[in-house]
Amino acid sequence: MDLAYGSARPGGREGSAGHGRNDIMASASKPASAPDPYGAVTHEVLNQPVELADYNLYDSDAALKDAVRREGAQWATNALGAFGARMGSAEWLEQGAFANKNPPELDTHDRYGRRVDLVRFHPSYHSLMKTAIEEGLHASPWTEPREGAHVARAARYYMQTQVEAGHGCPITMTFASVPCLRTQPDLAQTWLPRITARVYDPRNVPADQKQGLTIGMAMTEKQGGSDVRANTTRAIAVGREGPGAAYELVGHKYFVSAPMCDAFLVLAQAPAGLTCFLVPRWRPDGTKNQLQIIRLKRKMGNVSNASSETELRGALGWMVGKEGRGVATIIEMVAMTRFDCMIGSSAGMRRAVAEAIDHCRQRKAFGVYLIDQPIMTAVLADLAIEAEAALALTMRIARALDHRDEAHEDALVRLGAAIGKYWICKRTPGHAYEALECIGGSGVMEDSPMPRLYREAPVNAVWEGSGNVQCLDIARAIAKTPQTLEAYFAEVDSVGRQSAALDAHVASLKADLRDLSGFEARARDVCDRLAVGLQAAALVRAGSPIADAYLRSRIESRGAHNYGALVGVDCRTIVDRAAPR
Ligand SMILES: Cc1cc2nc3c(=O)[nH]c(=O)nc-3n(C[C@H](O)[C@H](O)[C@H](O)COP(=O)(O)OP(=O)(O)OC[C@H]3O[C@@H](n4cnc5c(N)ncnc54)[C@H](O)[C@@H]3O)c2cc1C
Repeated sequence: MDLAYGSARPGGREGSAGHGRNDIMASASKPASAPDPYGAVTHEVLNQPVELADYNLYDSDAALKDAVRREGAQWATNALGAFGARMGSAEWLEQGAFANKNPPELDTHDRYGRRVDLVRFHPSYHSLMKTAIEEGLHASPWTEPREGAHVARAARYYMQTQVEAGHGCPITMTFASVPCLRTQPDLAQTWLPRITARVYDPRNVPADQKQGLTIGMAMTEKQGGSDVRANTTRAIAVGREGPGAAYELVGHKYFVSAPMCDAFLVLAQAPAGLTCFLVPRWRPDGTKNQLQIIRLKRKMGNVSNASSETELRGALGWMVGKEGRGVATIIEMVAMTRFDCMIGSSAGMRRAVAEAIDHCRQRKAFGVYLIDQPIMTAVLADLAIEAEAALALTMRIARALDHRDEAHEDALVRLGAAIGKYWICKRTPGHAYEALECIGGSGVMEDSPMPRLYREAPVNAVWEGSGNVQCLDIARAIAKTPQTLEAYFAEVDSVGRQSAALDAHVASLKADLRDLSGFEARARDVCDRLAVGLQAAALVRAGSPIADAYLRSRIESRGAHNYGALVGVDCRTIVDRAAPR
């Protein structure tokens, strides 16, 4: 593996010939002022930044440190600092790039024609998976519950996702499967100890030969993803019927991400309706389960992670939860994956704004550093505000997850996570684009991290509940469980009277939500306002130095639609707070 990260340095000399390692070594042996009789040196590289690497993703992130302290994970500070140093190292950042430059490949059969359904990954992908699991990103709040457990895990996930987002998919699904599997104690007893173990074992062998397992999720079919009730995959009882019993599943799944997982939570139609099943890759007798990968998806983003189309040809699965209650059973898994989408998209924004600020700090145009040019300072500040607001809301929900035994916090998880998933994921693509533009032409190039961030950005918004579906879920939560809306207003009212604009914002929301009739037609408008109201509350509650700027630009907004339209805001202070070094 070539770890010669960032070999081009500012002020270096470029010749018309290549400048590989040998050329560098050769020129290094010459005196700096050696004559250049052949005219090979055409220019000096001037005004080009040093790549952002070898920085501590925790220590350099004031918003993250504040959130960790505030939301109850102060105890994790030292470990998070050590983890941040590792994640921000040039070596780790390059692992993330490698995992995406070398996408996974599928072998349906071995060389002699035996069915294997094997997905091969680049070693960098495996390194990322191994670290994520060893650090407990897939399980720590379940295995070591304590004050701030979700907050500390979210902080780690946030840093690791800045390095690479794709491997987060199986990590999240494994993490999110735990509450779902707990509803079926007999299966939980067998599977959970190895699902939550800090052991990464990527071998394509039966689960009982492994100490560590990963879990995927297969709901979506060709005829419907949002509307899983349209699923046609059938489940037929092998012997006895009911929860924990064995069934055979026949049908297909149009999206199955991380198909090398050891088992999948799958929705299929049983006689009493849509039901959840745990489907292993291998049968307990050591033969391959009839869960066949047809092909891998060709994705615009999330490239390091494999996503597949599969067919179930009588695949063995055990019923999880009650027959006909499949959506209710799997919903807690879906809820946790939605929370991780909030972390993942917040992390994408953080990496983007860190790259943009760091570039503009070093790059001059018209003789002045970009960071000092007022329009650019405002754009960078606005990007930083968006990123910090996303993190503040995410960490507020992480805290609520740590306190679900309290009615207010539990209700806040239900509505706040739906709002946060909708809003943060939807804000990320525009944010990635604007950050890319700050870097100019080099931001468009594939050797920059920006194209990867840009292509990754829409993915979280689409899966686990696309935008409109999230709005419908918000409406459902409010209608079915009015306490969720009460918790929302209790949360924003608790920071009220700080700003007349926020008070007016909340009052108009209350008026609009008094009657939910015709909600669908106005759902985007209402959900957007719910989101900015909750982010504002999170920032004010946090005492964040950007709270006032958020209120001015997102609540008192003068109708600006692009980043950088800030009025009356101390942009430079905000940019300095967000600068990664
Ligand atoms: C990279 C990737 C990986 C994935 N991995 C998995 C996986 O591992 N397991 C899995 O089960 N699925 C997976 N999915 C599938 C994903 O969950 C679905 O694509 C998603 O749920 C949307 O379903 P759909 O594609 O069928 O779109 P549709 O359901 O057809 O929706 C299309 C659009 O219509 C909107 N819409 C739907 N209903 C309404 C309505 N009532 N009113 C207004 N608008 C509406 C949606 O918001 C969306 O914008 C993955 C998807 C992607 C992109």
